[in-house]
Amino acid sequence: MKDCLFCKIIRKEIPADIVYEDKSIIAFFDINPANKGHTLVMPKNHSNNLLEDNEDDLKNISLAVKKIGNAIMKATNAEGLNIISNINSVAGQVVFHTHVHIIPRFKDDGINFKVQRRYYDEGESKKLASKIKTLLK
Ligand code: AMP
Ligand code: ZN
Repeated sequence: MKDCLFCKIIRKEIPADIVYEDKSIIAFFDINPANKGHTLVMPKNHSNNLLEDNEDDLKNISLAVKKIGNAIMKATNAEGLNIISNINSVAGQVVFHTHVHIIPRFKDDGINFKVQRRYYDEGESKKLASKIKTLLK
């Protein structure tokens, strides 16, 4: 995609700190890291988000996230990771080229993903679970 920021990085029109690249996947540092080593992993094929990816890209991205996640843990001495993919603006997606964030985590690093809990009304969770189940048949 001509005007997509990440496609431009993939085509090397914009510089990035690339940590991994093969024929279908690229991974580079986030320019605004939540922690040092925060990396974005993505397919080279343009798609808007993870739910729109083809099966091959999904397989390749999962394998790459595992491999790169392990390397980031070792390189940064992180004690954990957050692996996140934002889908659509309402969920915080800003760049509409599929990508997975790998964020190294350290004790007391000040990052807080805790959210306010919601509660189901009586019977609501069963209804919703059954609706999703039906859609997956
Ligand atoms: P998202 O909100 O999931 O769409 O994440 C987009 C991410 O891309 C943000 O965390 C940005 O900091 C990051 N980003 C934006 N521009 C660049 C760039 N030129 N190189 C690397 N990362 C970038
Ligand atoms: Zn793109």
